Amino acid sequence: MFEGVARLTLPLPMKPGHVHCYLLEGADGWTLVDTGLALPDSDERFAALARELQIARIVVTHFHPDHVGGAEQAREATGAAVFQGELDYAQCVHVWGNDEWPRVIATWFLRHGVPDPVANELLEAGSAYRPFIRYAPDPVPLRAGDSVDGWDVAELPGHADGHLGLVRDGVLIAGDHLLPRITPAVGLYPDSRPDPLGDYLGSLERTAALGLRLALPGHGDPIDDPSGRAAEIVEHHRRRLDETEAGLDETPRTGYDVSIPLFGADLAPAARRFAVAETLSHLERLVSEGRARRHENEGRVSYTDS
Ligand SMILES: [Zn+2]
Repeated sequence: MFEGVARLTLPLPMKPGHVHCYLLEGADGWTLVDTGLALPDSDERFAALARELQIARIVVTHFHPDHVGGAEQAREATGAAVFQGELDYAQCVHVWGNDEWPRVIATWFLRHGVPDPVANELLEAGSAYRPFIRYAPDPVPLRAGDSVDGWDVAELPGHADGHLGLVRDGVLIAGDHLLPRITPAVGLYPDSRPDPLGDYLGSLERTAALGLRLALPGHGDPIDDPSGRAAEIVEHHRRRLDETEAGLDETPRTGYDVSIPLFGADLAPAARRFAVAETLSHLERLVSEGRARRHENEGRVSYTDS
């Protein structure tokens, strides 16, 4: 793969069917980056890994289920400390450690025009993940500028507000910040940063400027032109912003309304959740750029052109 870096691919019971974790060789053992979901056989997988390699520490790139879910099992099996971004861990607890969260997010989707039955289906779809998420409590906090065994910690907000990457010698352990074939989801969610797409475009521009020669993503093949891939994703979102803007006029439309022409009317609840969150991140970016206006009326949020 790359000198001193090994890949550990874990299964996912949903698309895309796998997640890549990475193992970074260091003086005191190996750093495991990301942990997959908490699946019934995860304990045995991590125990087998610990028999083979000395795991010195575990780093979580971001709190999405397929990256943080197995962290507690990995910690138990290896005895290694877990490192996670400070903001990312706060959001991890706020979302996965909060019994009220499914209700919070369902209410929030209703405010954005998602019909009642769809919001409730979304609620169930969201709850289905929860048994597969066992994050490690009280991780060692990481921030931009920290170093982990010779790897520099980079803050790459966008796909998740507190998304971190590790950089060394022109190589980025990317998590879901850069993916080879699909564009990473960038959604607006309750209690998150106000303009995640603005954050993401900034992160992509900084990524392109790093002069990387390789990015190792959480899903799919290694990316051997990370700057080119970052520029492609910026271009994709610029087009998507234009399409989103074209769906607005003087009639107030909710994020749900605007998502229909962009993503189609026929979507399963989980896909609809991503479509509305993604539409909202584009609408909020348009508001920041002065290309759209947000209105709040009787608990409903809607958007018009500027
Ligand atoms: Zn993710």
